[in-house]
Amino acid sequence: MTDRANDLTAWDRDHFFHPSTPAGQHARGDTPRRQIVGGDGVHIIDSTGKRSLDAFGGLYCVNVGYGRTEIADAMAAQAHALAYYHAYAGHSTEASITLSRMIIERAPANMSRVYFGLSGSDANETNIKLVWYYNNILGRPEKKKIISRWRGYHGSGVMTGSLTGLQVFHDHFDLPRAPILHTDAPYYFRRDDLDLTEAQFTARCAQRLEDMILTEGPDTIAAFWAEPVLGTGGIVPPPAGYWPAIQAVLVKYDILLVADEVVTGFGRLGTMFGSDHYGMTPDLITIAKGLTSAYAPLSGSIVSDKIWQVIVDGADRMGPMGHGWTYSAHPVCAAAGVANLKLIDDLGLVENARTTGAYLRQGLQDALGTHPNVGDVRGEGMLAAVELVADRDSRRFYDPAQKIGPRIATAMLERGVIARAMPQGDILGFAPPLCLTPAEADTIISVTRDAITATLG
Ligand code: PMP
Repeated sequence: MTDRANDLTAWDRDHFFHPSTPAGQHARGDTPRRQIVGGDGVHIIDSTGKRSLDAFGGLYCVNVGYGRTEIADAMAAQAHALAYYHAYAGHSTEASITLSRMIIERAPANMSRVYFGLSGSDANETNIKLVWYYNNILGRPEKKKIISRWRGYHGSGVMTGSLTGLQVFHDHFDLPRAPILHTDAPYYFRRDDLDLTEAQFTARCAQRLEDMILTEGPDTIAAFWAEPVLGTGGIVPPPAGYWPAIQAVLVKYDILLVADEVVTGFGRLGTMFGSDHYGMTPDLITIAKGLTSAYAPLSGSIVSDKIWQVIVDGADRMGPMGHGWTYSAHPVCAAAGVANLKLIDDLGLVENARTTGAYLRQGLQDALGTHPNVGDVRGEGMLAAVELVADRDSRRFYDPAQKIGPRIATAMLERGVIARAMPQGDILGFAPPLCLTPAEADTIISVTRDAITATLG
């Protein structure tokens, strides 16, 4: 290694506090370190010159792919003209106004306004406050509890960490557990009763939700929070009929639906929003990631007409809403969003997510569907997962200590393809940029098969 590379490695070890990285191992120099220096299309390039096909699109956020000069140019032009002004007290820029309009034009019906943030976590925090604010304006101070799902992921903030249904995000932080409740994940493959049909399993999910609402008291439940397809919890599309069954329960008890579309928004499922795909009618939608394809940090809370009318009434009666971020609607990020959404349209990426995504999943199914240690191949649009099992017939899972998923992901990386070992269970996750070609999908498929064979025999 050059002196410079040695220096950077040492500085990284000594000064950089990385997210989701074992601190002690990193400080001792025991974790893999990789400096990424470039990217184009679905590939990234590291400082040694190695190219890898990024089959997880960063953290399922680089929807248009790497190296899009249109977005970089739009950001540079905005930074030259005006790098920053705030959005308080009615201030706007052309980019923030244009982007608001573009989002509402693309959003499901009955959506009205966008409140901008910077991350999926802060947009969910905004939505939590909007849900509580809404019920306070309506004079329902008891209606405040929120139900999310085990295996749901909604962020790492104080409340959003609680909303997340993965134990590792709760442990050791003393996060407030109330007023958050968790109900079943719609994870048919991991159902505890293998005799249940998909329809019976769906009915049971809806029944358990209703039981929880009745036990707690419907007048205390404000909202149900969910990703259209479970993401970080394992890339799990819901079983057939799940969303209509759940929505019927929510309507019955006047409970808001918040769709966390941080992953599924902007084309990932082969429709502009996941809500469109499943016929969901959310009251609030959380967006981030694909909004700018991660060229700049930007998120949003999309507010329905129903909620907006109440907010307007509340502001008139109760005074201004005390909620604001310095960087809300940051012009450089908004410019990135405008250029990104144009590219998604111009390149036909929503359609490509549907067609090439289906090709990728079918290819994974054909290559791995009969492997004795592949229990499930699933996905939707340009999202796919391969779940490994120790025994296919009894559906016995591996001991987590064996780290089967991470080992296969490492074997894939050695072969030039990045998949994500999902944090709970031996699940390989795939969420490539939406511009993936069938030839690139073939590479993902063959590398996955080779890495599984090399690791498991
Ligand atoms: N919601 C969902 C569905 C997510 O997948 C994520 C991030 N993976 C978040 C919220 C949080 O977003 P961020 O990391 O930008 O805070």
